[in-house]
Amino acid sequence: MYRIGIDLGGTNISAGLVSDEGKLLYKSSIPTTRATDRELTELMAKFCIQIAKKCDISLDQIRSIGIGCPGVCDDANGVLLYTVNLPFKNTPIAEIFSKFIKAPVHLANDANCAALGEVVAGGAKGYKTSITLTLGTGVGGGIIIDNKIYTGFNHAAGEVGHITIHADGEPCGCGRKGCFEAYASASALIRESRRAFHAHPESLICELCEGDVNKINAKTPFDAKRQGDKIGTQIVDKYICDLGEGVINYINIFQPEIILLGGGVSKEGEYLLAPLREYVFKYSYGHDFLPRTKIECAVLGNDAGIIGAAMLD
Ligand SMILES: [Zn+2]
Repeated sequence: MYRIGIDLGGTNISAGLVSDEGKLLYKSSIPTTRATDRELTELMAKFCIQIAKKCDISLDQIRSIGIGCPGVCDDANGVLLYTVNLPFKNTPIAEIFSKFIKAPVHLANDANCAALGEVVAGGAKGYKTSITLTLGTGVGGGIIIDNKIYTGFNHAAGEVGHITIHADGEPCGCGRKGCFEAYASASALIRESRRAFHAHPESLICELCEGDVNKINAKTPFDAKRQGDKIGTQIVDKYICDLGEGVINYINIFQPEIILLGGGVSKEGEYLLAPLREYVFKYSYGHDFLPRTKIECAVLGNDAGIIGAAMLD
């Protein structure tokens, strides 16, 4: 038997055929057209049929279909309750799918699916309790307890970017101030580097972006630090402390076996991980007498969401 995992994004719908062991066998994507929620759901169902055809399997060989959605899902009732930037609201996804395919449909938040994917086939394989933090435009992720996504009673748990790191700090898109996301995202690195660009024209940051503030990306301050630049070093060191504060909060609450970092910033690898571990193990609760949470990079990239969605049942 096979599974299909779908990653419903604002720009593209990516989907893949996945084995029962969680191996991604085939993947493809189509643009997310401007359409109603029902039309988009039908589009996803037809895309599944297309994938089965392309892979030369019958629809009876599909054990289940999972969809990672950018929003809040009620999996038990097959309803996508709410999405950000897409027109879904209380959409009966499972019911619409059933008109096209018999296989049961499961729903979960897309970042949660990526966290589950890492457990099934990625960096958290073999660990029952893990947290994945995706450091991108925002900070997303998922909390996995006993190999299952922790969703909370209302399906909205695991919004890992929105815990306060600095009271009365930088404004966050969620309406609060000082959220983890406002300090640990790639956007935060860019914001701080842009401020440095204006405040410290002598910094290597200005040279690395060729004098164009819009060319600054999350890698720029890391590159500056690597070349010994004082301002780049300050930005990165502060970033690592802020990231560390969030990681410590999650360790102190959940004591997961492993925390994975994904997203663009995680491409820094050990250059980020080594000082982060040092900071985290210095301040996390029970660090000197309890087994320590491992901190590593996520490995599946964009495939994590497809694999996790496919393995939802
Ligand atoms: Zn927030």
